[in-house]
Amino acid sequence: MNKIIDNLKQKYPSETQFHQAVTDVLHSISSLLNEDRIYAENGILERLTEPDRIIQFRVTWMNEDGEIETNRGWRVQYNNAMGPYKGGLRFHPNVSLDTFKFLGFEQTFKNALTGLQMGGAKGGSDFSPKGRSDNDILRFCQAFMMELYKHIGPDTDIPAGDIGVGEREIGYLFGTYKKMTDRFDGALTGKNPAFGGSCMRKEATGYGCVFFLEQALKHANEDLKGQVCAISGAGNVALYTAKMLLQKGAKVISFSDSKGMIHIPDGISEERLEELIKIKEVERGNLSDLCEDFTDCDYFEDKKPWDLEYDIAIPCATQNEIDEKDANSIKKNNVKWVCEAANMPLTDKATNILRDAECTILPAKAVNAGGVAVSGLERTQNAQYLNWDSEKVCSQLKDIMSDIHALCAKNGKNNNSIDYINGSNIAGFKRVAKAMIAYGTL
Ligand code: NDP
Repeated sequence: MNKIIDNLKQKYPSETQFHQAVTDVLHSISSLLNEDRIYAENGILERLTEPDRIIQFRVTWMNEDGEIETNRGWRVQYNNAMGPYKGGLRFHPNVSLDTFKFLGFEQTFKNALTGLQMGGAKGGSDFSPKGRSDNDILRFCQAFMMELYKHIGPDTDIPAGDIGVGEREIGYLFGTYKKMTDRFDGALTGKNPAFGGSCMRKEATGYGCVFFLEQALKHANEDLKGQVCAISGAGNVALYTAKMLLQKGAKVISFSDSKGMIHIPDGISEERLEELIKIKEVERGNLSDLCEDFTDCDYFEDKKPWDLEYDIAIPCATQNEIDEKDANSIKKNNVKWVCEAANMPLTDKATNILRDAECTILPAKAVNAGGVAVSGLERTQNAQYLNWDSEKVCSQLKDIMSDIHALCAKNGKNNNSIDYINGSNIAGFKRVAKAMIAYGTL
């Protein structure tokens, strides 16, 4: 195992996020590898630590001022042992191939946990949508898809949204895909429900996160009602996690973005949350706009929520957002639950600090799988030319999250407690490895 990690570090020295994601999985499955030689005999680790395919391309487009801009685009088709490649697109200036390799690797196991036929992939661009006009977003999405359409399709690779890519961007991307291929099919998910999208897709990641958290608390004889939750981020995942938390009687006292944090000491009300959703989704405004003319919340520039007082930490922003210092704040506050709604939100040092403090970490692979699960259901609806109602989608989402919880609990059982990190990694790995072994050496 160490040889594999050393080898990766030597081959790809700058891909630190990818190393972190691989190390996390390999540590969890070490006893499995010792017990059963089948994985070594089939070279599973060597194969799983190389993506099936990396597509990298140039995206050149003309902005609305008539200037020519060039960005980089990627699609990492990581592993299709469990089904067609599936995973989101991220538009953010900080991304690199490392980001998409780590996300594609994580996605492979996450998708396996859902029990749906989906392999793992991830992609996107270093284009920054922030502060851009609608016109520029449209022009960029068209240029991006004019290259990507060659590599995707309902039975090969089905992208969706992620950071910087929501329903608007998926609309522009799907419109271009349709134009280039002359096909209306399920090659993209996250579409508007009025034209082929699944209802509840927008809510799915956040709602699924709360369904998983509820199961984990129940297993520990605790109740979500009355728990005080600190949320980071103020995007799709953060907003809909908060919405479901309020429905379950929990209290949400914070949101954040790359500029700062808002603190709502008495907890945000449903009405105020709807205002925030409108600010972020419709007006595309700033988080601080919520506090203008109101005394129920305070805005703090350059601050994260982790040193506030709360029971459950729910990071919903980005990878490695919780570092050593934040983990020490969480530990000092005696917080017993960290629910990872964002992908890999803890640095490995932060993870170690919180594990030592006996804080239960609910890992992203399991917690945020509801988004891709409903994307999987969107693909099914598209294949049948059907639209299911919210009740049907939500009930399937609940069942999937409950099955994922049971799977993690079974595979992560550790005396009287559950190691959810190990549980999710072992369960996901076993499913993917079993399929790879069955296919032979390809
Ligand atoms: P959005 O783009 O909707 O929102 C992201 C939020 O995180 C924004 O508030 C953004 O602030 C903040 N953020 C991003 N980067 C940073 C940073 N470096 N420091 C501080 N804040 C930051 O994305 P999503 O809500 O869709 O995604 C959030 C996380 O959830 C990601 O890790 C994503 O991979 C994961 N996820 C998303 C799924 C989905 O269905 N959308 C599915 C599964 C996982 P600002 O606006 O200032 O940049």
